[in-house]
Amino acid sequence: MDIKAINIKKYERIVFFTGAGMSAESGVPTYRGEGGIWHEYKWQEYACQDAWEKNPEKVFDFHDLRREEALKCFPHKGHEIITDVQNSHPDVSIVTQNIDGMHQRAGTENVIELHGSIWRVRCENEDWIKEDLAEGPFANRTCDCGAWLRPDIIWFSDMLNQAVLQKADEAISNCDLFISIGTSGVVWPAAGYPHLAKSSGALCIEVNPKPSEQSNMYDFVYRGKAGDALPKLFIL
Ligand code: NAD
Repeated sequence: MDIKAINIKKYERIVFFTGAGMSAESGVPTYRGEGGIWHEYKWQEYACQDAWEKNPEKVFDFHDLRREEALKCFPHKGHEIITDVQNSHPDVSIVTQNIDGMHQRAGTENVIELHGSIWRVRCENEDWIKEDLAEGPFANRTCDCGAWLRPDIIWFSDMLNQAVLQKADEAISNCDLFISIGTSGVVWPAAGYPHLAKSSGALCIEVNPKPSEQSNMYDFVYRGKAGDALPKLFIL
């Protein structure tokens, strides 16, 4: 793979856009691909509002497992490079579809989490959202008010959080460098982001060992793993 390093000083606003492939390299299972979670678990029983309303304990057990699995994995070189770029440039946004907090564990800040986080819960009765950073299962499954807490994750059929979407839209429509890493580009509205960046005039780069749905619209495509490509793309 022949990679030309990027001079970040040439760009005013940089966006990294990441998907499950970024974390897969750390060992976090994907949902759909080979060995994907939905081969073992039916999302209808574990990852939708209906499932949680019917059997919150079962849904919590599943998400406790996701937390424990995530904690067995660690950020890789690619995550570290993104943090280094953020520390070396005044305007770097990270928009992720991942819910595992791996970017934050690598020291990246202000991560826009499109699909929520397994490290937060919310009480729909009292209308609050809080971090639950217990190193393992969720610290609490119920609120002091007596209601069940709910993992703050966008499940199947959920609406995305409008404020989060707006932040992502703003960052992407104003960036002049857009680097997409480890996303197949099939989940919407995230799948529209490369087009948004392109139509805003950004230089668009894809890092993915396999073609994605949008590969043909990128200015440069690197067919390789995030942990190999990012240290070559960004020499700081
Ligand atoms: P996806 O599973 O549809 O696609 C993953 C992509 O990553 C593939 O195109 C694959 O070729 C690529 N890939 C695999 N290894 C890679 C590597 N080392 N470097 C770079 N790319 C690599 O993922 P998606 O597009 O993010 O969509 C899946 C949905 O599932 C998202 O909505 C996401 O929220 C959710 N999800 C999140 C996690 C997580 O939090 N870690 C895990 C699984 C799924």
